[in-house]
Amino acid sequence: MAQQLSWEMLQSIVQSDSIERLSMRQLDELFHAEKDMMSFLPDSVCQIDPRNGELIVYNSTRARRPHDSGTHNTGLTTDEKPCVICQGKTTGVVDVAQLSQGATFINKNLFPIIYPLQDILEEYRQQPLYPDPAHTGRVSYGFHFLQWTSSQHDQDWHTLPLDDGLVVLQRLAALEEKLLYESKELMPPSEMPPPRKLTHGFVSIIKNYGRLAGGSLAHGHQQIGYSNIMPSRFYNNWCFAERHQGEYFSHYLLQENPSELTVRDYGDAVLVVPYFMRRPYDMLLAVKNTERQYLHELTNAEMRAVTQGIQDAIRALMQIMPMLGREPAFNMTINNGPGAGLYLEFLAHTQEIGGFEQLGLWVCQESTTNAAAYLREKLS
Ligand SMILES: [Zn+2]
Repeated sequence: MAQQLSWEMLQSIVQSDSIERLSMRQLDELFHAEKDMMSFLPDSVCQIDPRNGELIVYNSTRARRPHDSGTHNTGLTTDEKPCVICQGKTTGVVDVAQLSQGATFINKNLFPIIYPLQDILEEYRQQPLYPDPAHTGRVSYGFHFLQWTSSQHDQDWHTLPLDDGLVVLQRLAALEEKLLYESKELMPPSEMPPPRKLTHGFVSIIKNYGRLAGGSLAHGHQQIGYSNIMPSRFYNNWCFAERHQGEYFSHYLLQENPSELTVRDYGDAVLVVPYFMRRPYDMLLAVKNTERQYLHELTNAEMRAVTQGIQDAIRALMQIMPMLGREPAFNMTINNGPGAGLYLEFLAHTQEIGGFEQLGLWVCQESTTNAAAYLREKLS
């Protein structure tokens, strides 16, 4: 990469050096002030697949994203094109923290899947999925952020020292906490009824790595969606607890998953291959204290254990996928919110999704015991 984002360049796009110091109103204003975002706004409509409760949000402008269409126009791959982040050509930064080299920072997604609409009717702010008998769609709104793991182009979770990875996770936790506790005026309660805590809205944290897993920019990053609507996986976690007399899924996993499928134990968290692995080398990272629901509730020791687990899972996939003849590509999701216990999922793009899988019949080309053994070997 010819150019790296220097501290000085980064400072020139910083609007706030700490998310804690911004009010939700200021944050809202900063989103509305991003003029370049205006041509990429989402449709702000959500539909629900009535068969399984999965949510679909629409953004008909998203296909026009320059880094997507540019690949076709110029014949360059994502890796060959100049990186817009390294050039500092990005939206205003709302949080920045120094790492041992460079910095990690959070800014606004220029191509948001959700956007802070103004003047949302009170009735729509009462509950995440209100009745929609005419199927015109429900309003979906919120904030879409990006967290750049490092200002240095070639750095990401798997290359950072543990202490730097910990800072990255702590900044994610700070954003999550801010959004959940200061959005009473904006978002429906996170849990209905009755709320265990006074949190509002839903914070979805994901990472797409590699072109084949939906990563459209090579510069390492996480996406954070803060929405009025509850993703169906969060809802499923909540339903799981309802069906199991209040037992959270992560508690079930820690009790039931066979010990030979443990990849590594970090004391406060454990990395496992789930006995129901759908794709070779899928992994789950569960926090052992299953009363934890959110990142910001973790102690420092738990935060460190989770950072180690993230780093190990990604390092293992980066080693194994090329040996399978595959470009490294995976999704990481953070399952937080009511009913989950806190756990992370690593979904490796080790097999395509075919027709059987679309019927809910997954054909997995590796056994769980082999996958766990190989992951342990790679990490030892
Ligand atoms: Zn870059």
